[in-house]
Amino acid sequence: MKYVRRKRLAPKAYVDGILKGDRILLSKAITLIESALPDDNELAEEVLSTIIPYTGNSLRIGITGVPGVGKSTFIESFGKHVTSLDKKLAVLTIDPSSQRSKGAILGDKTRMESLATDPNAYIRPSASGSALGGVAQKTRESMLLCEAAGFEVIFIETVGVGQSETTVHGMVDFFLLLMLAGAGDELQGIKKGIMEMADSIIITKADGENIRKAERAKIEYQNALHLFPPSKIGWYPKVMLCSSREETGISEAWQLIEEYFKHIKKIGFFDIKRKEQNVAWMHHLIKDTLTKRFFNNEVIKENLKSEEAKVALGIIPSIKAARNLLAAYDSDKPPTDN
Ligand code: GDP
Repeated sequence: MKYVRRKRLAPKAYVDGILKGDRILLSKAITLIESALPDDNELAEEVLSTIIPYTGNSLRIGITGVPGVGKSTFIESFGKHVTSLDKKLAVLTIDPSSQRSKGAILGDKTRMESLATDPNAYIRPSASGSALGGVAQKTRESMLLCEAAGFEVIFIETVGVGQSETTVHGMVDFFLLLMLAGAGDELQGIKKGIMEMADSIIITKADGENIRKAERAKIEYQNALHLFPPSKIGWYPKVMLCSSREETGISEAWQLIEEYFKHIKKIGFFDIKRKEQNVAWMHHLIKDTLTKRFFNNEVIKENLKSEEAKVALGIIPSIKAARNLLAAYDSDKPPTDN
């Protein structure tokens, strides 16, 4: 593949620009993170390690829900509310579909038009990458750059189709699940595991004829949440109603989030959570790198298919094949990854 070589700046130029809140340099630095060129990634890593002391202070909020639930309309309305409180907001999106279908689900450029022109808001659509892990990593690093650039609230939007939620949940402080009322069996629309991760559920489109259905759904979801064990920090996820169209429930949703942050800061959990997120991310990166090294190893590439076939035919058990491959990997010198 042929790459167009962009003009690169010295690391300090990016760092100084980001710390001054310069959006152009912020975007350029995010582009370095997203780049497929190792040189760009190296430069991005240098910028990242310099800005680390300026990160970690934002309110990191994950927002998820199935396509059509009203995420972009909600983020537009909710985001405008946040910026009207004179807070700087960055919106990042993770869209696993964008690798396959050029941003089919979240990539539409016309989304969040009015928030996009808000001087207090910065919107960065999904990075394209080869795998969800890669995209999530880029989003996390972009989030750190946004924090260093002075964004106080960060929304990470993801499509609630089950793949990216766990990763996003591990990167954010508050996980908001948007749900539709009356879309088939109330509790079937979204996986139970995702509901269990939610710090709040918001039933969208609670307007017009939909209000009654939304109120019923609220009771059902609230009852369903009661079945989960209480969280270790004593936070009880609340179900709320909202209409982005009529702008109802928007300020209440923000109040709830503020209440949550007040609570976790008071009990010291905000700092604990940051540390946990950083350590968990380190583990994530180690696993990711080791997996890549393993599958990129020439000996593994040569032997994987035959071991798979032996397992499939019942010639050897899986554990034996796994041990064979791991032993072959260990005895070979692992190549440097990137
Ligand atoms: P996304 O795919 O989750 O980002 O959903 P969108 O924000 O694009 O919304 C999907 C559809 O629901 C669009 O046709 C919106 O106009 C509609 N919609 C979004 N929010 C509301 C709302 O509060 N009330 C009503 N009645 N419709 C809404």
